[in-house]
Amino acid sequence: MSRASRNRVGSIALLAATVFLLAACGGGRTPGGAARGSGIPGVLPPRPNIVIILVDTLRADAVGFGGAERDTSPRLDAWARRGVVFDEATTPAGWTRTAVVSLFTGLYPAAHGVQDKDHVAPESLLMLAEVLHGAGWHTAAFVSNFAVAARFGTGQGFDTFRFFDKKEAPPGTPRKLNYLPIEYMDPEVRAFLEHPPREPFFAYVHTTDPHYPYLPPPEYLRWGTDPRARYDGEVLYTDRYVGEWLDAMERSGVLGRTIVVFTADHGEEFHEHGGTGHGITVFEECVRVPLVVWAPGLSPGRRRALVSLVDVPPTLLEAAHVTAPAGFAAEGRSLWPMIVGGDPERGWNWNYSELVYPSKGIAFTYREGDDKVVHIVRDKLGRTDWTGLYDVARDRFEQRNLASRRPERLREMRDKLRAVRQEHQREARAVANPQPLDEEAVEQLRSLGYVD
Ligand SMILES: [Zn+2]
Repeated sequence: MSRASRNRVGSIALLAATVFLLAACGGGRTPGGAARGSGIPGVLPPRPNIVIILVDTLRADAVGFGGAERDTSPRLDAWARRGVVFDEATTPAGWTRTAVVSLFTGLYPAAHGVQDKDHVAPESLLMLAEVLHGAGWHTAAFVSNFAVAARFGTGQGFDTFRFFDKKEAPPGTPRKLNYLPIEYMDPEVRAFLEHPPREPFFAYVHTTDPHYPYLPPPEYLRWGTDPRARYDGEVLYTDRYVGEWLDAMERSGVLGRTIVVFTADHGEEFHEHGGTGHGITVFEECVRVPLVVWAPGLSPGRRRALVSLVDVPPTLLEAAHVTAPAGFAAEGRSLWPMIVGGDPERGWNWNYSELVYPSKGIAFTYREGDDKVVHIVRDKLGRTDWTGLYDVARDRFEQRNLASRRPERLREMRDKLRAVRQEHQREARAVANPQPLDEEAVEQLRSLGYVD
């Protein structure tokens, strides 16, 4: 972190302390405009706890604070009003393992190389948990999606890595699922977050319920039984537990010493572009993800900057005053200055995402301002060498392809897309590390839809 940004964080912490004192003394609204009591009391300590809660397959517009029409996330909406919400966050990859390795390394897929179903993240890749562990953080992972089980190299740096296997569902569980539902993760996750065994800690919590098949408990089927209604029921079901975890951390006081990130690895398609599920396209329904950050003393607000999951590791390290080893998270940029200070005037006007999943499809997308180019090399729906150009500010669901109306802009955007891809390839520090999948792995991945 640069000295300038360090100083900035210091002065923000001082400001936050002042704001808190004012609020505690009965001052009405803070200078930042936040309502009294709307932030988390306290000031982020120099070595804060860090929590990432990732909900698999949660598209950005499936939650209320992301624009959902149904009341799918009342608890998270209330919490989002107390945090900093990024409205334009993108996953760098359209399926679980590739996205999570980007989240852990701050690298785009071409740089970390973990792209296909049998790829294992090599030891040579440095991950966020390793950096934090090396700096003295206790590290724990709680994961229910087999695609990121520790056998795929995602356990690097964790003191404990708890994989919740679907086989742990109690006998007689009526729902037939390919992952363990959040209610069975809840006791262990809640106990850890509410009363952590050691501090500072880093916890990574990865829940899976909005993932296919959509089978929420019956009481969450409020909007019918079609696939989208069932999916929304899974979001509501997830909202209950994640909301309760944040409440529990606040009650125990842990939240006053913790920075929390809430996000998703990718979204989900419901026929917007001819298909269903994820891992097949790079349109908005699959690549735009929710992203919220909470920390004590922060002024709540929203940010419009175009950001990516690769930006999360440098953000957390800056917030925690940890100097990363040279080259770590080289492709991500810290969001911390804009979390504490608001949207910057320039420099955050593009993002990139890809899907390189040979058995399902290969596609790339680049967005600059409101323009977004999509290039599908091939996909399961029969599109080959297909290009689309969209104005996502006016056409969020990418229904009006402007490619023929704006050929010059299309050419320009394709050139930029190509240049960004080449840049990622130049950053490559690991090569794909395929490992033979045993029978159990094939069965688990097939049930999640990652093996045909
Ligand atoms: Zn996923």
